[in-house]
Amino acid sequence: MAKIRLATIWLGGCSGCHMSFLDLDEWLFDFAEKVDVVFSPVGSDIKDYPENVDVCLVEGAVANEENLELLREARQRTKFLISFGDCAVTANVPAMRNMLGGSEPVLKRCYLELGDEHPQLPNFPGIVPELLDRVRPVHEMVEVDMYIPGCPPDANRIRKAIAPLLEGQTPDMTGRDMIKF
Ligand code: SF4
Repeated sequence: MAKIRLATIWLGGCSGCHMSFLDLDEWLFDFAEKVDVVFSPVGSDIKDYPENVDVCLVEGAVANEENLELLREARQRTKFLISFGDCAVTANVPAMRNMLGGSEPVLKRCYLELGDEHPQLPNFPGIVPELLDRVRPVHEMVEVDMYIPGCPPDANRIRKAIAPLLEGQTPDMTGRDMIKF
């Protein structure tokens, strides 16, 4: 059987979901035999999201223009897209800034009011990607095939979701560990 082409992307999140994936320990050896990791922030320097990806794990909420562009590209080029962890599923912690009413008050607070020696707003566009006005969960921006909740999802839950995909099967998403909207 051909190896599964798997990608992972990291949007507005803390990387904790990726770290939880690494907690799969020795199962990662089985995983490596069945999967080609074709794009990932963990251990890969590939800059452009590739074509013909079988499965993509999306960590993090959609918080800025760069997140949105990468997510749309991933959706177009991926057969099975997984919203991975609570930031992706609900927007979670990154969405706390939504209560402040748009990106401008957030930028002012962070860069001007709390700035140390030379407070100034960042250079848009250019040095940092422009913030979206509201932080959003992944499914509000693109179609999602499966959700893996948790902050972070524990390793067993991740394995339960991924293992069937490696055998060409659809995971059972009916248990309390999985949700499908
Ligand atoms: Fe980090 Fe939790 Fe968000 Fe995962 S769901 S990126 S662990 S804050």
